[in-house]
Amino acid sequence: MNNDSKPSASLDPADWSEFRALAHRAVDDAIDDLMSVRERPVWQPVPDEIVARFHRPLPASPQDPAAVYREFRDSIVPYGMGNTHPRFWAWYMGAGTAFGALGDYLAAMLNPNMGGGNHVANHVEAQVVDWCKEIVGLPRDASGLLVSGGSMANFVGLAVARNATSSVDVRAEGVRALPALPVFYASIEVHSCIQKAIELLGLGSRALRKVPVDAAYRVDVGALQAMIAADRAAGLAPCCIIGSAGTINTGSVDDLGGLADLCERERLWFHVDGAIGAVLAMSPLHRGLVAGIERADSVALDLHKWLQVPFEAGCALIRDRQLHRGTFALTPEYLEHTERGLASGPLWFSEYGLQLSRGFRALKVWMSFKEHGRDRYAQLIDRTIGQAKALAALVERTPGFELVAPVVINIVCFRYNPGGLDAEQLNSLNEELLIRVHESGIAAPSYTTLGGRYCLRAAIANHRTEDRDLEIFVEEVRRIAGELA
Ligand SMILES: *Cc1c(COP(=O)(O)O)cnc(C)c1O
Repeated sequence: MNNDSKPSASLDPADWSEFRALAHRAVDDAIDDLMSVRERPVWQPVPDEIVARFHRPLPASPQDPAAVYREFRDSIVPYGMGNTHPRFWAWYMGAGTAFGALGDYLAAMLNPNMGGGNHVANHVEAQVVDWCKEIVGLPRDASGLLVSGGSMANFVGLAVARNATSSVDVRAEGVRALPALPVFYASIEVHSCIQKAIELLGLGSRALRKVPVDAAYRVDVGALQAMIAADRAAGLAPCCIIGSAGTINTGSVDDLGGLADLCERERLWFHVDGAIGAVLAMSPLHRGLVAGIERADSVALDLHKWLQVPFEAGCALIRDRQLHRGTFALTPEYLEHTERGLASGPLWFSEYGLQLSRGFRALKVWMSFKEHGRDRYAQLIDRTIGQAKALAALVERTPGFELVAPVVINIVCFRYNPGGLDAEQLNSLNEELLIRVHESGIAAPSYTTLGGRYCLRAAIANHRTEDRDLEIFVEEVRRIAGELA
């Protein structure tokens, strides 16, 4: 082992054996933290004196890595978001895994650039994308790439939809050359990143029609059909329907088969936002909920949510490879790269998305998929849906509490309603309740507003949650509600 510690001009450690000791300690500390996460508060506020440390200027001279690591331990580790904790159910997040995190470390040590070139890491990403196609049932010759998450995956899908459905060459002429406004349709429950994407595609948010939902928060297909007809009559150019496979508010799943039929009849692009629920297709018990997803022209998946891959990891899938490449590539196909050598090979992911330089996020996904396999993910999906239903039942049994939306998958919306309060009082009571739950450090749900009713919302996409955590949570919510009453 070369233990030579003579200083070098490179940025490598001056003393490799010191670095090795530090790296081993960092791994041990991280594992210890994860193993004992349950014993700590889910969340605590960051003290002002800690925040102040992050306002210091750029260091001019080198600092000892051991000192930097100590600062990480003292200033960063204790004040986390909380999403590694078994009682974190805010927004919609994965809790991460140790092996997935190891994948991130190993990827960074190899440090390939995934923009293209002939190296093995591209085959890893291609395999992971193939597995995602297999999950949702898209054909093997469909196209795709890994992206940062659902927002970017939706953006990629909608960019292809815009270009593929327009009558002019949008890449050359821009959207101003379009003879009629292309119109996209999604339910009022659609995720905000869809609107963001349509705005950034230069179409303006009014190009996104928000369609009413039924009592179960699914898109109203009849109303959608009427809106398409009205838009056609007004001279607009309906181009795409976006189905939600799991909405962020309540976890409702649109009738994807019905939407696929409608797209066929109306000759529209069918995009599915599957950031939450595309992976339901992995569960034999629950895949019926997303039947029809396999008919989509494009699908957005998140891997850092229900599948627990450490942030960031999402996947964009496009049925037609030529349309996908035609939206992003600046290299004509016939000029593709060299025949041999490093710049050869068929896998140039930079031609399928916005990024040129890209990290090796595929490795943590590949390692995680191998570690757990389809069956373990299916069990996780089934178990967390079961836990959400158990939580809903517990809420309904608890005096003064009520469910605010039906529970279809793993999202539970409920509120405290002791009676005798008007709508506004109820909303502020529940807002205060949520904040006190956060401050208790016992659990971290989040909130939403449904039909003007502010409610607490628990999204159980957390592989560490045990059944007893739900009881602890309801007990605590009850205790705080009692204090507030
Ligand atoms: C989380 C989410 C998104 C956005 O995904 P990110 O990974 O956060 O970018 C899009 N749609 C739905 C339904 C989501 O839940």
